[in-house]
Parts: sequence; C-alpha cells; structure tokens
Amino acid sequence: MDAVQVVSFDAEGTVVTPGFSQALWHETIPALFARKRRLDVAEAKAIVYAEYDKVGDQRLEWYDVEYWFRRLELGPCQPAIQSCLDSIAHYPEVTGVLSSLARQYRLIIASSTPRELLHFLLQDIEPYFARVFSSISHYRQLKNPEFYLGICREMGVDPGEVIHVGDSWQFDCLNSRQVGIRSFYLDRSGGNHEESLSDLGQLERLLMNPE
Ligand SMILES: [Mg+2]
Repeated sequence: MDAVQVVSFDAEGTVVTPGFSQALWHETIPALFARKRRLDVAEAKAIVYAEYDKVGDQRLEWYDVEYWFRRLELGPCQPAIQSCLDSIAHYPEVTGVLSSLARQYRLIIASSTPRELLHFLLQDIEPYFARVFSSISHYRQLKNPEFYLGICREMGVDPGEVIHVGDSWQFDCLNSRQVGIRSFYLDRSGGNHEESLSDLGQLERLLMNPE
C-alpha cells in the first residue's frame, strides 16, 4: 500500500445511518404533500416516490432538497429539516474508529449530500474531519472521477495516497478507483465482494495494523 495520507468517508450509509433521510424523504415530504393536496398519505407517497423516480440518482437535482421543495410546491424546507433532526444517528463504531484513525491520518468527508444538510448530519463528529467536501455544494456535480481528483488537489495529495470508503458501488468505489484512489465498498449487510467491508471497524484494523 502507498503511504496513506488521507482517509475519505462517504457520509450517508457510511458514517450516518439512513434514519434522517428516511424521515425527510420518505415520511416528512410525502406528509407535507398530502396536506397540501388533501390526499391521504399513501396516495401522496405514491405520487412523490414516482416524482423521485423520474429524476433518479444520476441527476444533481435528486440530492437537492431545495429543488424538491420547489418542485412539489411545499414552501420553505428548513422547518421540515428541523423536524427530522431527531432521526440523525451515527453507526455505533464510528466515533471509536474516527478517533483512532485521526491519530495517524487526515480524515475527510466526500459526500453528495448538500453542505447545509451535512452540517446537521455530522453533528458532533464533524471535528474529526480536516475537510468536508460536498460534490453538490462545492463542485455542482455528482461524485464522479473529476470530483475525486478535485479533492486530491485540495488536500495536496496524489490519488495513491488516499483511501476512500462508502456504500455506493458506483459513486464511492468505481468512480474513485478511476482516478487511482484505493476504495473499499461498505456493505453493512455483510455481502462478500471484492475489497468489501461490513463495518468501519474492519477499515480501522486494516489501516492501523497493516500486514
Ligand atoms: Mg452513501
């Protein structure tokens, strides 16, 4: 392994549980839509989910909460975001892993979540990270290879000196590998894939006790 300088983490599904996103996208937004259109919640969910599907996760708008509040005519998004903050949680091993890795590496977040949401999602673990990069807010792009190169430039390191971990095979693993970053696929369901991890404790053991 090249001398690793930077360990990069995806946010949602990697350090932050899906609880907040579930509450915002699958409960609160459909409930607001139901109230506005005088529908029952099941009907509203069907319509809103169909709208999500029309956009899909390959387009920037998918990730943009303000876009969705405009598109669905739901008014300001901040009260809805505030109402979901109680659903934010980190996976249980996260704090221990970050405090251990931070002794030896610079840690960063590389996420497609907008910066204004990341600030809420990271909460008390944000101080572990030297930088928090949002592909949407800082680069107006998805987590594509150019985003990863941009991060390396900002951090002043070569891609070979970066490890990235995340739960999207495409956006975390394939796209970072294209520029020469070593990436690990986090599959918390425990599936067995090449270079896959089932939790971040495995990454810690790999990096702190290299064979
Ligand atoms: Mg993720």
